[in-house]
Amino acid sequence: MRKSQRESQATGSPSRPSRRESQAARRQRALAVAERMDARYPDAQCALHFSNPFTLTIAVLLSAQTTDVAVNKVTPQLFARWPTPAAMAAAEPAELEPILKSIGLYRSKARNCVACARTLMAEFAGEVPRSIPELMRLPGVGRKTANVVQNNAFGIVEGIAVDTHVFRIAHRLGFSPAASDTPEKVERDLLALYPPERWGPINHQWVLFGREVCIARRPRCPTCPLTELCPSATAVSH
Ligand code: SF4
Repeated sequence: MRKSQRESQATGSPSRPSRRESQAARRQRALAVAERMDARYPDAQCALHFSNPFTLTIAVLLSAQTTDVAVNKVTPQLFARWPTPAAMAAAEPAELEPILKSIGLYRSKARNCVACARTLMAEFAGEVPRSIPELMRLPGVGRKTANVVQNNAFGIVEGIAVDTHVFRIAHRLGFSPAASDTPEKVERDLLALYPPERWGPINHQWVLFGREVCIARRPRCPTCPLTELCPSATAVSH
């Protein structure tokens, strides 16, 4: 028996995964990860500022390849001028551009904002829909955005929003095989691994964890609370 396995049995925590980890052992490890995330981020929630499902949808749409902080700087002015789907549907994308100019891809995002508002008016009576398939009919809204909107606007959790942080952490923790090379595949792997009550917290906690600890280029493995649960700790700690 390896030293790490002896230690983990003594402390009651799951051991560092072996290459031949069973699904049961992976589930146990995944729950141990969830408990440590709960301890570190007990109040994690969406960092985007919004006041209703429409403003959340637009804020999430704007957040692609942009920080939430940057989005929060432009949305007050945006929503002061176009607070509803009806108001934004009547705008031209070029009118939004000066307000969105400080965030990435602002021209295409301006087009998507207006197109999204027009679709809401034309197909959903000006209301943001609640189901994932309906949300994904909105221009600029993919599965990740739909999951975020459904979760934060309506408290419904039917999936996991796999952004760049969740994607990276799932692979580093060995919860998604290397062959899972799309966010959709990673989401399916995580949904199969975790019970439904754990899906919602992942959306918030893993994003924070990816920003603060399991950073893309220089993960902070030596001080990471998941070190003995993570098969990538040694490989990426220097
Ligand atoms: S040990 Fe390193 S690679 Fe593993 S989750 Fe922590 S920071 Fe990420």
